[in-house]
This record gives sequence, structure tokens and C-alpha cells, in this order.
Amino acid sequence: MIRRLLDKVFGRKPRANAQGAQILPLDAHGIRRSQLDDCALKVCETLTQAGYKGYVVGGAVRDLLLGKTPKDFDVATDATPEQVRKLFRRSRIIGRRFQIVHVMCGRETIEVTTFRANGQKELEEEDERPTDEHGRLLSDNVFGSMADDAARRDFTINALYYDPAREEVHDYFGGVADCRKRVLRMIGDPETRYREDPVRMLRAARFAAKLDFHIDEATRRPIATLAPLLANIPRARIFDEALKLLMSGHALRGVHQLRAEGLHHGMLPLLDTILDDPAGERFITAALKNTDARIQSDRPSSPAFLFGTLLWPQVVKHWRALEAAGEKPQPALFQAMDTVLDAQRSQLAIPRRYDGMMKEIWALQPRFEQRGGQRPYRLLEHPRFRAAYDFMLLRAEAGEVPAELGEWWTRFQVADADERAAMLIADNGPKPRRKRRRRKTGEAAAGEVPVADA
Ligand code: ATP
Ligand code: MG
Repeated sequence: MIRRLLDKVFGRKPRANAQGAQILPLDAHGIRRSQLDDCALKVCETLTQAGYKGYVVGGAVRDLLLGKTPKDFDVATDATPEQVRKLFRRSRIIGRRFQIVHVMCGRETIEVTTFRANGQKELEEEDERPTDEHGRLLSDNVFGSMADDAARRDFTINALYYDPAREEVHDYFGGVADCRKRVLRMIGDPETRYREDPVRMLRAARFAAKLDFHIDEATRRPIATLAPLLANIPRARIFDEALKLLMSGHALRGVHQLRAEGLHHGMLPLLDTILDDPAGERFITAALKNTDARIQSDRPSSPAFLFGTLLWPQVVKHWRALEAAGEKPQPALFQAMDTVLDAQRSQLAIPRRYDGMMKEIWALQPRFEQRGGQRPYRLLEHPRFRAAYDFMLLRAEAGEVPAELGEWWTRFQVADADERAAMLIADNGPKPRRKRRRRKTGEAAAGEVPVADA
């Protein structure tokens, strides 16, 4: 009470809590309660009214500090998952290894996590947490204090706790200052933290790209030697992290960051082959720029489309090789698609559910070059036309097919019936069936499935 009165008269000053965090008042961070979404606010209020702590934590605080709109809100509390569940009618406990609670309000879900310890104490005395032979933590499911919870987080900017009731930020490791300096800094000893969880190296590259931050030298240095540890991480987890990086709205910068840190072998091994070939690099650059622009303007962007672009330069390479060896264009394309999908499975583990869409987009590519008769009309009707057309535009942008082809299809879509009829280019389509049957050899007639030079 007296403190509040003094605060009112003299303004709030940063102070430290018992566990060593700086507690920053509104004017030191500028985040107002009204900037939170209603659901996160409600969750924190309910928790505190029940006598628990409730802070917005992690990415949301960081994003608000940087003037960005958070994509979701996470809440940290000292209540156990069971206690949290009892407070919210629409909530459920998820996870086995470490339980968290999903609280639903409206169409939104807030993730509520109980303060977790990484065994910081044991670390100082004798670290008995289970690790593999490289130091990777195999489990970390111990509840802890708020300070423990802050210490087990990865970067200083991700260990900020916002108290909506007092509009204060609890900052344990100088994360607010690092945000201002735009520096990404690991909490604790970087090498140990990377050994505990090598995925943190990928996260470093992702955050540096997404936020346009500089990676602090001590945080960056161990990556070059430790990058191979990513080989011990389950492929599905690597895939999740790759997806986050590629769908962050800063994929182009992210991919370059990965390469600069030598991390792409562990995350996107296919980058090696793509970026060594100028045509592949042009195509991927066009594709990533396009995805970034879509995400930044809130337009939908599908992972299948994106992975379809990343794998395309390899598909083209195999396709051409098979054709050069005498295979017909269409079977060559299908064979190339399967070869590439099989090969990447051991590397990146792109889930099979994306295969169907990737294959459809790829398989439609030769059909854009058939501009006679009924063919263009049929292609327009295809359920995947839109995605395949967007894909073809990227090929045009990269110089893989003539720019004129992209322009033709852009016009054809909006043209009226007469204009469309006048646009048809009869000679460019496959020869009619009858003629094909008469051919003696199995060789493809010129223009049967016309394919532009890559
Ligand atoms: P984004 O906006 O990209 O989701 P985020 O900071 O919310 O960023 P998440 O992956 O959602 O990132 O993780 C939430 C929080 O959990 C992080 O801010 C960080 O504090 C902590 N965290 C996540 N992964 C790790 C990890 N591998 N090691 C340590 N802390 C982690
Ligand atoms: Mg998040």
C-alpha cells in the first residue's frame, strides 16, 4: 500500500526481487496491459485471484517490447497443472513428460506452464540430470521457482515475465537491455546449453533472422564445432524447427543465417545442393521471398507448397538426367519426383501428408506449356491450378521457363471467352492421339509434353 503510494508520487523505479530479477516499471519497458489479448489477461487475473502467480512469458513479452504483435500468448505460474485445470472450466492437461495446461477462451488457446527447473541447483553441486553421452538432457520435468524457470530458458530476451496487474516486467538476465541492443544472448554457458539441447543452435539462427538481431559472439562461437550434434536429434523435431524458420516471414534471411553458421547440414541438408547451382539458387530465392511476402501480409502459405519449392531444383535435375538418358518427359518427371521424395525422407523427414500436394503441383508443371485446344481450359479447372500457377510463376521469375509463359497464364485467367479463344497457341500442345499411335518408335514427339529448358 505504502509502496503504491510512493510509486504514485515519485514514479516507479526499477528494483530487484528476492531472486535477483530486475523489476522494471511501465516507463522502462512501455508494455501496457491493454496490449495483451483478453484471454491472456483473464488467465493471469484468475490465477492471481486464486492466490497463485500468473505472468505472460516468453515470445509474447519479447515481441511486445519490440513493437511487434505477438502470435500467441504463453502464461507461466506457480500453480501445478492440476490446480490450473481446476480454475478453468474449458481447460485440459496435455503432455506426459512435462505437463502443461491448455486454457480455451473463444477460439483461442493459452498455454499455461508451471514454473519448471532445469535442476539449476544440481548443476552447481553435482549434476545428476540424465544426459546422453554428448551432454543432451533426456528429461527435465521438475517443477521449480520462477528464477529456476527463467534460468532454463534459452535466450535472455525469452526470459522476460510480464505482470499485467502491475504492468511490470521481471527481467532475470538483462533481456530488456539485449532487446534494445538487438543482441541474441544465451543464458548461462552457451556450450553447455547447446550440448543440453542442440536444437538451441537452430533457434539461435531462427531468432537472429526473424528479429534481425546480432548473435552475441560468445553465443555464436561454439556453434561451428557443435553443429554436428544435431545428428542425434529426432528428425521430427528438426522438421518442426525447420518449419518454424521457413514460416517465420523471414525465411530468406533464415536460410542464409543457417548457412553462415554451418547449420544447414543438420537442418536443411538439401540447401547444399540447391545453393551450389545458380539456377537452383535463383529459384529458391524467388520462392522464399514470395513466402515471406505472403506471411508478412497475412496471406495463407502452405508448408507443402514451400517444401515443394525447396525440393524442386533436385526434381528438375533428376528429370533432365532421365530425359537425357532417353526417358520420355512425363514418366521421367514422375520417376524424378519419387527419387527426390525418397532421398529426402532420411534427411529432413518431411511428413508424408505433404507428398500428395507437392506431387500434384509438380506434375502439373508441364501442362502450363500446352496452350492449344481444350487443354488450358481443363488446367484452369484443376483443383490445384492456383498453387501450380503460383509455382510456375516462380519458375518464370527464376528464368526456368520464359517470362512470357507466366504472363500468358496471368492474362488467360482474366480474359473473356473471345479473348481466350484468340490467345490459344495450337502448335504448342501435344500431338493428337491418332498421330501418336501411328508412331513406330517409343520416342516422344517434339512438343508432346513440351518442356522448357531449365
Ligand atoms: P515464437 O514467437 O517464434 O513462437 P517463442 O519465444 O514463443 O517464439 P517458442 O518456441 O514458442 O518460442 O518457445 C516459448 C518459450 O519457451 C521461449 O521463449 C523460451 O523461453 C522457451 N524455450 C523454447 N524452446 C526452448 C529450448 N529448446 N531451450 C530453452 N528454452 C526454450
Ligand atoms: Mg511461441
